Amino acid sequence: MTKLIAGNWKMFKGPAETLAFFDGFEAPDGVDVVLCPPFVSLEAAVGEEWPIYAQSVHWAADGAFTGEISAQMLVEIGVAGALVGHSERRQLFGETDDTVRRRAEAALEAGLGVIACVGETETEREAGETEAVLRRQVAVIPKHERLVIAYEPVWAIGTGKTATPQMAQDAHALIKSLHETRVLYGGSVKPDNAAELLSQPAVDGALVGGASLDPDSFAAICRAAASLS
Ligand code: PEP
Repeated sequence: MTKLIAGNWKMFKGPAETLAFFDGFEAPDGVDVVLCPPFVSLEAAVGEEWPIYAQSVHWAADGAFTGEISAQMLVEIGVAGALVGHSERRQLFGETDDTVRRRAEAALEAGLGVIACVGETETEREAGETEAVLRRQVAVIPKHERLVIAYEPVWAIGTGKTATPQMAQDAHALIKSLHETRVLYGGSVKPDNAAELLSQPAVDGALVGGASLDPDSFAAICRAAASLS
């Protein structure tokens, strides 16, 4: 199956830097690519050839929700989907399993694609709770052909620590036994570890943070994925 490589830019790259990235980015054939710029850069990005996802989306169509953006607003400017439940949203902005579910449902209802993020913290892994946490988080995620799950162990995000290929494989196999969907791995994926992670049978792609900011390193990860598809 074709691998999916999604780049999460977090709070990096305004519109000018977004356009500069696309000037320098070339993806090979044989891989699906998605990019997730910050809200203010979405309009600059949607003119490019790859599907563009927002980094979050609210469940209401409109209303008194200062700072939030609705699925309908994303559709209006040509955005193709949204991340939901990224661990930074869960840890820093009070996202819960219930708000993740509501955001995912609203996005799907509006016709968007969704990448729903799950993953255990370091404390949870050390306490032997990884499976229970994943079962709880996955249970609320709607089943839909436009929905993809990203397994992102929180201790591996932006830390340089990567899950071993076997850890990723085990978590992905569990998630796939609960939810029939593509499952991406996220957590310090770089050009030099991408092929090993992506060659695990249950790893259908990657959600890439830091290494997606540079067009050359993101393209290298896309090439690794294309060579395995
Ligand atoms: C992410 O932001 O989803 C992520 C996986 O970040 P990084 O690749 O930098 O660990």
